[in-house]
Amino acid sequence: MKTKTLTTLALLSFLTLMSFSTPIEDAPQTSVYLCDSSGGKKYHYSKGCRGLSNCQHEIIKVSLEDAKKRGKTLCGWE
Ligand SMILES: [Zn+2]
Repeated sequence: MKTKTLTTLALLSFLTLMSFSTPIEDAPQTSVYLCDSSGGKKYHYSKGCRGLSNCQHEIIKVSLEDAKKRGKTLCGWE
């Protein structure tokens, strides 16, 4: 019985620590938009960009880092 209480306490402490260590929501992170097509090689800062108006696929929002990982380069219109 005592062991179970200790386990519960340990779990609660863990959860409390986790809630304190969650990433800060407004951390500086640039989001960009890209056309989710196989031929799309550009990312865009604006969702209303001219380059995206030609997109025949879904426009997705990703982090700038993720866009670069996908091999995207900045759209020429911006
Ligand atoms: Zn663009």
